[in-house]
Amino acid sequence: MRKEQYNFPLDDFISEGDFKKIKEFSKDKETPFLIIDLAKVEKMYDKLVKNMPFVKIYYAIKANPTDEIITALKNKGSNFDAATIYEINQLIRLGVQPERISYGNTIKKEKDIAYAYEKGIRLFVTDSESDMKKIARNAPGSRVFFRLLTESDGADWPLSRKFGAHPDIIYELILEAHDLGLDPYGLSFHVGSQQRDIGQWDNAISKCKYIFEAVAEQGIKLKMINLGGGFPAKYISPANELETYAHEILRFIEEDFGEDHPEIIIEPGRSLVADAGVIVTEVVMISKKAKLNQYRWVYLDIGKFGGLIETLDESIKYPIYSEKKGYEEEVILAGPTCDSMDILYEDHKYAFPKSLKEGDRLFIFTTGAYTQSYSSVAFNGFPPLKAYLLK
Ligand SMILES: *Cc1c(COP(=O)(O)O)cnc(C)c1O
Repeated sequence: MRKEQYNFPLDDFISEGDFKKIKEFSKDKETPFLIIDLAKVEKMYDKLVKNMPFVKIYYAIKANPTDEIITALKNKGSNFDAATIYEINQLIRLGVQPERISYGNTIKKEKDIAYAYEKGIRLFVTDSESDMKKIARNAPGSRVFFRLLTESDGADWPLSRKFGAHPDIIYELILEAHDLGLDPYGLSFHVGSQQRDIGQWDNAISKCKYIFEAVAEQGIKLKMINLGGGFPAKYISPANELETYAHEILRFIEEDFGEDHPEIIIEPGRSLVADAGVIVTEVVMISKKAKLNQYRWVYLDIGKFGGLIETLDESIKYPIYSEKKGYEEEVILAGPTCDSMDILYEDHKYAFPKSLKEGDRLFIFTTGAYTQSYSSVAFNGFPPLKAYLLK
């Protein structure tokens, strides 16, 4: 239970210089809040382009829909994956041309499809006959891509079951799309977010190959594969480097399709923005539940409802850093609300110096994705997570 070692070296997750900047910036601000380093988002985008020059990038804006992030990525040439008309409106307000937007949600109202079409959007995903007929009625002639059901094994934040359909249904949909006057353009899948098993792309790409061939026999030539998201950010559980993902995925594509492969799209969310965020939080209370309990409870001023919902089932393990040094003790970490599910980590034990006390600040790294956009409006009266851009 006791460890005489530091939690982790700071520079596993942030350079000393960057950490200094974060501390300086946050000095007189009231916790909790998120700081986004925009330059890091831009760097990640460049890194993606460098490692995967063969793809067209559609940023999945739900990961972090901050205007400045979208504008920066727009200026770098990114395209965008939107899930709702609200996201579409935001993109249009920020000057993104409709040709650069994909309506990437398989669950859509008829009137929302009509709205998107009226705004100029011509690229839609689908995975059901009902949705496809809505698209045919309200967005005639548009390009559609078909989402395949995949396993999310190996993903820290699975997206399985809810989206996509089995190849036999997809095959029928593709043939029908053509008859409905749509342009059956390609296939998509999502292997699960923070997918640490690169082999999952191999399985999914093989399924694509099979469908490409099956519909080709019926005279339909698909032109695109959308590899979805799932690319990694740096949390406690280690993942391969982006270089390895890129290299392996290209190998899978070339094994199945040769060098003259179809157009490849990716929809990164987490991997573009997560590493650029740091949440600064304060210890509200430290307590013991019984005299002989091994573990102290450490309550922070941020929890599941304040932006850390991905700690559900302890799925995502954020690096949490204390500046205190010395003898460490494992603790249970919880949030500040009056909901008993608002416990962050109980099974996985985080260790902090025994000298950690109420009022101390902790720094939660890799929190640029799926934090602010997930935080509740006012559960228990707590305001939604504030965010600042580090300039
Ligand atoms: C959420 C989402 C993504 C982003 O996934 P990450 O794992 O965060 O990169 C991409 N595509 C679709 C359709 C999504 O719903």
